[in-house]
Amino acid sequence: MKNIFLFLSRQKTLRKLLSTSGPFQKFSKRFVSGETLAEGVAASRELNQQGTLVTLDCLGESVQSEKDAHEVVQEYLKIIEAVKAEDNFKLTVSLKLSQLGLAINDQFCLENIRQIMQSAKKHQKLVTIDMEDSPYTDQTLKIYRAMLEEGFGGTGIVLQSYLRRTEKDLRDILSFGPRVRLCKGAYQEPAAVAFPKKSDVDRGYLDLLKILFSPDALKAGAYPEVATHDEKIIKWTIDYAKKQNIANDQFEFQMLYGIRKYLQEKLIRQGYRLRVYLPYGSHWYPYFMRRLAERPANVIFLLKGLFLR
Ligand SMILES: Cc1cc2nc3c(=O)[nH]c(=O)nc-3n(C[C@H](O)[C@H](O)[C@H](O)COP(=O)(O)OP(=O)(O)OC[C@H]3O[C@@H](n4cnc5c(N)ncnc54)[C@H](O)[C@@H]3O)c2cc1C
Repeated sequence: MKNIFLFLSRQKTLRKLLSTSGPFQKFSKRFVSGETLAEGVAASRELNQQGTLVTLDCLGESVQSEKDAHEVVQEYLKIIEAVKAEDNFKLTVSLKLSQLGLAINDQFCLENIRQIMQSAKKHQKLVTIDMEDSPYTDQTLKIYRAMLEEGFGGTGIVLQSYLRRTEKDLRDILSFGPRVRLCKGAYQEPAAVAFPKKSDVDRGYLDLLKILFSPDALKAGAYPEVATHDEKIIKWTIDYAKKQNIANDQFEFQMLYGIRKYLQEKLIRQGYRLRVYLPYGSHWYPYFMRRLAERPANVIFLLKGLFLR
C-alpha cells in the first residue's frame, strides 16, 4: 500500500486530476494550512500563540524550468518579508532544493538559495533545507555545506534514518555543530539505498540520535531536532536527555501539521520545545500523497469522505 501511494505521488496526470477534486482538496486541508502565504502566516501565528514553534514551508518540488524556480525564490523572499517581524526562533522557514532548480543544475540552485539565505540572514530567520529522494542527497548536502561555508551558519539540514549512508553523512557534518532535523524518510527508495524493514529504520533512528546527542556533538553546538510522531522514540529521547542531563532547550521535537495534535500539546505541557512543520500552497499533491502513504488509516478516512457524503 505504501509503495502504491508513493508511486502515485509522482504521477503528473493524476496530480492534475486530483488537485482540482473537491473531496481531495477538502481532505488535504488536514495537512496543509491553506493555499496562500497569508493563510500560512495566520496559521503560524495562531500556533505560536498556543506555545507551538513553527517552521513554515511553501509546497512545491521537482521544478523543471528556470522561470518556475525564480518564482519560488520570489515567494520565499515574500515569506521572509512577511514574517521578518515575528520571533525568529518561534517561526523558521523550510524549503526543498528541487523547488529552487536542483534538477536543472547545482550552480543555478546555489545562486537561488543564496538569495534566500541573504535575506534570511538580514532578518535573522533560520532556514532548514528539507531532504528529498536519494538521487538528490549528495547535491543537497553539498549545497548545505556551501551555505555553512559562506557564513549562513544557522542553516539546518534534514537527515533520514532509512538511508544506509546517513550515519556517515551525519559524522561528516558533526564538527560544524549542525542543526539537524532527523526524520525516518518519506520517499520510495531501493533496498540498496534504504533499509526496507521498518524495525531497522527505527533502530537506525536511535543510533543516529545517540550520535547527535553525544557530548562532543553538543559541545560543537549541535542542535538535535527530533522529527517524528513515534511515541517510542519520543519517550526514548526524553529518558535519554534526562539521564545525560541534557536541558530541554538543547533540543526540540518536531511534528507535521495535522498529525498527533494531542501528543504535540502534551509535550508542550511537559515543558518541551515542539515545532510544527506547517506547509501552505497549491502544489500540495505529492506532499499529501506521502502523508497517505505513511498511514493506511488516512486512506480509509479519505475513502469515507469520497463515498459517504
Ligand atoms: C518536521 C518533519 C519534517 C520532515 N521532513 C522530511 C524531509 O525533509 N524528508 C523526508 O523524507 N521526510 C520528512 N519527514 C517525514 C518523515 O520522514 C516520515 O515520513 C514521517 O514523519 C512519518 O514517520 P514517523 O517518524 O512519524 O514514524 P512512523 O513510525 O511512520 O509513525 C509513528 C506514528 O505516527 C503516526 N503517523 C505517522 N505518519 C502519519 C500520517 N501521515 N498521518 C497520521 N498519522 C501518522 C501514526 O500514528 C504512526 O503509528 C518529516 C517529518 C517531520 C515530522
